[in-house]
Amino acid sequence: MKLKKGVAVNAGVVIGSAFVLVKGRIGAQQRFLKTRTTEAAQKELDRFRKAVELAIGEAQEEAEKTRQEVATLKIAASLAEIFHFQVMMFEDINFLEFVRDKVETKYWSAEHAVQRFYSKQKKIFSQHKNESLRTRTQDLDAAEDKLMKHLVGETRSEFDGITEPVILVARDLTPSETSKLPKDKILGIATDFGGKTSHTAIIAVNRGIPAVVGLGNITADVQGGETLILDGGAGKVVIDPDNETLAKARDREKTFEGLRKVLDDERTLPAETLDGHAVRLYANIEFPSEIEEAIKEGALGIGLYRTEFLYDDTNTDPTEEQHIAAYKEAIERLQGRPLVIRTLDLGADKFSPDDLGYEKNPFLGCRSIRYCLYEKPDIFRRQLRAILRVSKLGNVKIMLPMISALEELREAKNVIQEVMGELRDENLPFNEDIEVGIMIEVPSAALCADLLAQECSFFSIGTNDLVQYALAVDRVNAKVAYLYQPTHPAIFRLLLRIIEAGRRKRIPVSICGEISGEPSFTLPLVGLGMRDLSMAPSSVPRIKHLVRSISAREASRIADTALTFQDAKRADDFLRQKAKEIFPELFG
Ligand code: PEP
Ligand code: MG
Repeated sequence: MKLKKGVAVNAGVVIGSAFVLVKGRIGAQQRFLKTRTTEAAQKELDRFRKAVELAIGEAQEEAEKTRQEVATLKIAASLAEIFHFQVMMFEDINFLEFVRDKVETKYWSAEHAVQRFYSKQKKIFSQHKNESLRTRTQDLDAAEDKLMKHLVGETRSEFDGITEPVILVARDLTPSETSKLPKDKILGIATDFGGKTSHTAIIAVNRGIPAVVGLGNITADVQGGETLILDGGAGKVVIDPDNETLAKARDREKTFEGLRKVLDDERTLPAETLDGHAVRLYANIEFPSEIEEAIKEGALGIGLYRTEFLYDDTNTDPTEEQHIAAYKEAIERLQGRPLVIRTLDLGADKFSPDDLGYEKNPFLGCRSIRYCLYEKPDIFRRQLRAILRVSKLGNVKIMLPMISALEELREAKNVIQEVMGELRDENLPFNEDIEVGIMIEVPSAALCADLLAQECSFFSIGTNDLVQYALAVDRVNAKVAYLYQPTHPAIFRLLLRIIEAGRRKRIPVSICGEISGEPSFTLPLVGLGMRDLSMAPSSVPRIKHLVRSISAREASRIADTALTFQDAKRADDFLRQKAKEIFPELFG
């Protein structure tokens, strides 16, 4: 028996047999053509072009599948980008010319030419001074493999050997592999590499597959066929467990199944604390097509609709009609439930339009409301026209992202007034009383929340950005991930200030950052008086369960204690412990 510890990604205990994903690279069978004639060279080039065509088709299909698969995630576009990179490589004129030249003049086999080209590219990339290009050598490997597979006529999938449900063990999973995962046959995922935000982790959460990543070298410890216990909440994998460990794990597995049933049974019940305080749970979405699932999970409506996803790879601005079509679809699917539409939050970690150009510090640059107000007012007005034009069809609110000062809010509201005037002139109906709220995700807004609260209808706290800006920690940089601490005393102080300002000015305050869906935060948030939380749809059932298991009075005591800690680690340990007492299954 061997115990391995890694990064806990998605809670759940599963027992199953290991399937190790072995990645054999395909090599060239022969370096030169058997007959060195012009005719043979042309035949070889035909074969090569056919393979390129097939590889492009495959990459495009994978991009599409990935988009659908990770539709609920901001990074869908960046994952799909890997496949676009492959297509770009396959269509690269230098590459096509290199192969043509070598086949025609030196009678190289297409495989040999492809390999030579890619090995040269990898050398260039690996020595590049730009770090992001240096890390692209893996993407080059993946592109080369894809093309080689079509050249040698390899049709077998990596997963063909899986006939029974297994625990998948791999170095890491590429987007290409995850797009082909046989959904019903994967009990759990264990990988050598990866962290909480790696794409394997995201896919696992999305599909509800228990997973542990960053295990170091589990692929060296497992050959395939061994019995594994994978505990996604504790971040542990046991290889070849003894009978006693196995029996305990079976109990835990059963508990989890029972829990799933409890969560299912609670779907239609209100999220109400033991002492009768209602907490309203909403969902964050990127596409209207996610709404049914969100409602099924128990969300009361949409607390954050991230409209940046109206942009696609074509980099063209959505037309007013495209905006309207998306919003109408969302309204229809919601059937009267609330819909908070956030205006475009482009740039930095989100889609960056080409005209934004290079910025040395994009998170502090011309992103989000700044881009809309000062760089591209036309785009902003177009979106506002569309939101207003559908505003009478449902329960629609406008939310402005990244507000950092009162003047900014005023300017945005002026634009809204101007657009309303335009619509009146055109006799186009809209809701004159539409609520306009703001996200509080910049420390300056948190500190001036009392001023802002006087001039907007609601606050929604965006802790994803608030933590990054308050602690000066890039939210997408793995190297400083250990410093990204939502339990930092500074964050609690900012939260208190925002909540207090909302209370005094009598405007609703909700939270739509990831901490809303984080079980260890439910107690302090409810304790601080938060009654509206918006989160990833899949988080709703477990947060509801927690809310239903606590009293607001007890939550308030826990929040008070959390506020006394002087460092993030202790506060985090304390809150995890408290949540674990109520919901042990989630923490292993
Ligand atoms: C946030 O910043 O907390 C937020 C919800 O917005 P996003 O994650 O889209 O930046
Ligand atoms: Mg944000």
